[in-house]
Amino acid sequence: MDKKDGNIYGDFAPSKLHCKRCKTLMEEGVCPTCGYKVYVPMSKEKRDKVKLVSTIVAFVVLIAVFVIIQIVKD
Ligand SMILES: [Zn+2]
Repeated sequence: MDKKDGNIYGDFAPSKLHCKRCKTLMEEGVCPTCGYKVYVPMSKEKRDKVKLVSTIVAFVVLIAVFVIIQIVKD
């Protein structure tokens, strides 16, 4: 059993899944033909990206709140 690097899905890669309804090859766990969706666990790369984005958003919101407080003070 050898795992490919960066592929946590193994043989069940979402890109290789076929739609249960119309048998179309699915893209990212979504059928381009009928819109059927399957649950696709987030990859580590995606999770890290989401983490980074939420950290940046939280930081920006914090700065925005700080700036607003400063403006309101005047
Ligand atoms: Zn389909």
